[in-house]
Amino acid sequence: MRFAATLTLIASAALTPAVAQQRATLAAGTRFETSYVRIDSKHPGPTVLLFGGIHGNEPAGFRAARQIAGWRIERGTLIVVDRANVGGLAANERWIPDLSKLRRDLNRQFPRKKNGQPTGVLATALWELVKKTRPDFVIDLHEGIDFSKVNPKSVGSSVIAAKNARDRAAKMIASVNTTIENSKKRFVPRGPPVLGSLARAANIVFGIPSMIVETTKLDQQLTLRVRQHRILVHRFLTDLQMLSGRPDVLVGTAGSGTKVNVGMYVSVGVGGPGPQRLEKILSAKRGFVVRRLCAADIRSGALAQFDVVVFPGGGASNQARALETAGRTAVRKFVRAGGGYVGICAGAYLAANNYDWSLGILDADVIDRKHWARGRGQVAIEWATPKVRADVLYVNGPLYAPSRDPDIPDFEVIARYRGEIRKNSAPVGIMINTPAVVAGSYGKGVVICSSPHPEQTKGMEKIVRALIRRAAGQ
Ligand SMILES: [Zn+2]
Repeated sequence: MRFAATLTLIASAALTPAVAQQRATLAAGTRFETSYVRIDSKHPGPTVLLFGGIHGNEPAGFRAARQIAGWRIERGTLIVVDRANVGGLAANERWIPDLSKLRRDLNRQFPRKKNGQPTGVLATALWELVKKTRPDFVIDLHEGIDFSKVNPKSVGSSVIAAKNARDRAAKMIASVNTTIENSKKRFVPRGPPVLGSLARAANIVFGIPSMIVETTKLDQQLTLRVRQHRILVHRFLTDLQMLSGRPDVLVGTAGSGTKVNVGMYVSVGVGGPGPQRLEKILSAKRGFVVRRLCAADIRSGALAQFDVVVFPGGGASNQARALETAGRTAVRKFVRAGGGYVGICAGAYLAANNYDWSLGILDADVIDRKHWARGRGQVAIEWATPKVRADVLYVNGPLYAPSRDPDIPDFEVIARYRGEIRKNSAPVGIMINTPAVVAGSYGKGVVICSSPHPEQTKGMEKIVRALIRRAAGQ
């Protein structure tokens, strides 16, 4: 079966005129329909075909591939299929949904011998892309369950390379391992890729140097695993002289034009459905590009590419500890230079001025700290302009009072609490009428903090977008 590929040229002002990006559809008109992007440097060089999301419950691959698709390729061509198994990704399951046991594992449906054929609509469409583009290299991003180094039964944290890709894999492993302190969690070489996999098929049928790159889900945050994928692929492309610069590019050409680029810290100390809700509210259609960050991203300077950094709910002291001094300094520096800060609940504690671990970028002290566990529930707030009341979800958010720090400008109250939650013997009358949502400034940057959770309150989506845009200086 063959599928017509429809090509559309993406006009992008930030691209150097020489580079062309084309997006095209695969398996068009079927329930497996997905797309790929082709980044042509217009300079002679190798063609690299990169896959993410072949297994739907391995999200680091598709997130890393989406980020890499924004990289400026300087030589050759990079082709990225970031969401190979769209149905599996939507369901967060390994398989292609609703297929038989024999057919549902996409990475077992590719040719097992030189004259073999792929099975199923999706594998056939992906294989057609390999045949059509005849890449010089194939990389397929995956995730394993446990660290291969200590549990060889699992493929986690390994690069599974075909024989003719082993030398390149060894260099990639060397690069990523410099970022991993715990030797038990370091990457190891493996190979060859399993029979029926895309990487193995590309090697058997066309002799293409191919590899499967596996991170480990155990005990490691998604944002850290995405970072590891990025570092591995960055080393690979750098060795091919297709790329220069650092591996911390998360937005790249995807954030060009009038979009608001939002970096959202989602790692140690972040919990609940906030980040996922924010990704829905701040959609591309609405003009936002959202990328999740880990503490190492922030420490290595990744914030510079964003308009706004968001710290969502969870535990503020844990967020502060994960950032370390260097990360907290990087956030302050980013805001001082004009970056926006949006803190929600834990992120609002983090911005405050009276903890030894807090950022001190908002002229607010947290009061009644003893009763921080005030509970969870809907509470009334009143917006300042226009003066309207609404119920909003509250989960142990901070109660603010002016800090009167001469070095930080006073904040403006955007909304006040008009009700209160006082479980766990919190005293009466402390919470009511305190600021719920505030806006301040720190250096050239806007700081917006919300004690409650508008991002988890139905009907407040528009307000959330307005707050983010305001923090971005729009
Ligand atoms: Zn996998």
